Amino acid sequence: MSAAALALVYDFVRQQAFTQAGQPAALGRQASAWTAGLVADAVAAAAPEDGPVACRAGCAWCCYVEVRAAIPEVLAVAEYVRTHLPPTAQLALRERLRDTVARTRGLDAAARLAAHIACPLLGADLACTVYPVRPSACVGLVSYAAAACRAQVDDPARRTPLPINTAAWHASQAVRAGLYGGTADAGLQSGPVDLSAALLRALETPASSARWQAGQAVFEDLTTGAVADDATLVL
Ligand code: SF4
Repeated sequence: MSAAALALVYDFVRQQAFTQAGQPAALGRQASAWTAGLVADAVAAAAPEDGPVACRAGCAWCCYVEVRAAIPEVLAVAEYVRTHLPPTAQLALRERLRDTVARTRGLDAAARLAAHIACPLLGADLACTVYPVRPSACVGLVSYAAAACRAQVDDPARRTPLPINTAAWHASQAVRAGLYGGTADAGLQSGPVDLSAALLRALETPASSARWQAGQAVFEDLTTGAVADDATLVL
């Protein structure tokens, strides 16, 4: 994907995020769908020698990486959890989120990988429990070699470059950057947040979405890294 095309994606999402900041969950769902469309285009345009995409149900090595998300993406996941997961599953998820937040506090990306802590949203069948609304960072990670993904989890110190579809990843970055920019334009807290910590906050804070829309600092202490660092985990 060319720089000009990525700039178009960024401008489009930024404008949408500015105008739709009042419906953050819907915006987060759209961001996931926009990214899926861009990823499909990037995969279709990939060189034949890249080989078939390795990602499939039951392969979840990428779900050991810290997920950085925009706040509307987190609120979309929170809404999905509240409306699609049975109460017992929601309680169990909150427990896993608390455990993950406690175990990952203070860990950098490599240390987190080395700790082998799976995303709390990963099901026992190794499928994502919020797949229709998973954040753009998850949608945008398309691998051509599951063995390389596993190697990064098994031995993160090696820092072996992953054979991913870089156009898909860059498209997902452009979507996230647009979300950060548009929500900031709307005067709301922006910036990348850790998915697990922010989702726990969203689920445990009454009216978290309305408070965030009202400009309250619901997620302020959960920002992880600068917007410009949002590409550093796997590339
Ligand atoms: S949100 Fe879903 S796809 Fe993303 S890391 Fe978690 S389980 Fe995996």
